[in-house]
Amino acid sequence: MGRHTVEEVLLDLLLPIRCAACGLPGHAFCVRCRDALIRLAPPLCDRCGSPAAWPVKRCAECSGRRLAFTTARAAIVYDATARRFVHAWKERGQRSLARDAAVLVAETLARPRAPVLSFVPSDRDRGLSRGHRPAEALARELGRVWELPVASLVRRTRTAERQRGLGLQERRRNVRGAFASARASPPGVCLVDDVYTSGATAGAAASALRRGGARRVEVVTLARAVR
Ligand SMILES: [Zn+2]
Ligand SMILES: [Zn+2]
Repeated sequence: MGRHTVEEVLLDLLLPIRCAACGLPGHAFCVRCRDALIRLAPPLCDRCGSPAAWPVKRCAECSGRRLAFTTARAAIVYDATARRFVHAWKERGQRSLARDAAVLVAETLARPRAPVLSFVPSDRDRGLSRGHRPAEALARELGRVWELPVASLVRRTRTAERQRGLGLQERRRNVRGAFASARASPPGVCLVDDVYTSGATAGAAASALRRGGARRVEVVTLARAVR
């Protein structure tokens, strides 16, 4: 659970719960915003999960890239509503929002083939200062839904610069070597993260899993940037 200041705790007591996306009081995430989210449905790129006109093995986004993961799939498009939801979820660290995220994922995606879930570890500095880790929280909620164990298999080796605002090449360079295997990995792993943007972070974390012994890494995220 997150560390909260006295002010934050008092505000929580005084103010009604507000929707993470639209701010209206009543629910932590309201039905209207939930319904407004765009689900990612086939046809998709078989590899990176990008929406496609018809099923393809590789797409313009991922062809020619060496990707350490076998597949990447997301539940929803990372649009304005999804962005507001993810932002509030990260800021508040509310467990109910992690649960909402897990429900969206489990409703949209098939249960992974991998027998174990892992997660992209939060940045040590940013994650710990806020006291919560969305990717790990999502993995744990999904573990409950899919009845799969969750293992911490990847660790950060250093604090990466913020990915926001960086181009694709810079993103890849930025996360290269940012992850290491935390312990021996089983052959099949489902790697959970909150958002798939360029695939650079998922790819780097999947590489660490591969170095730890994984041969097949399925990436699952709540949201995905769609170009
Ligand atoms: Zn709302
Ligand atoms: Zn692709």
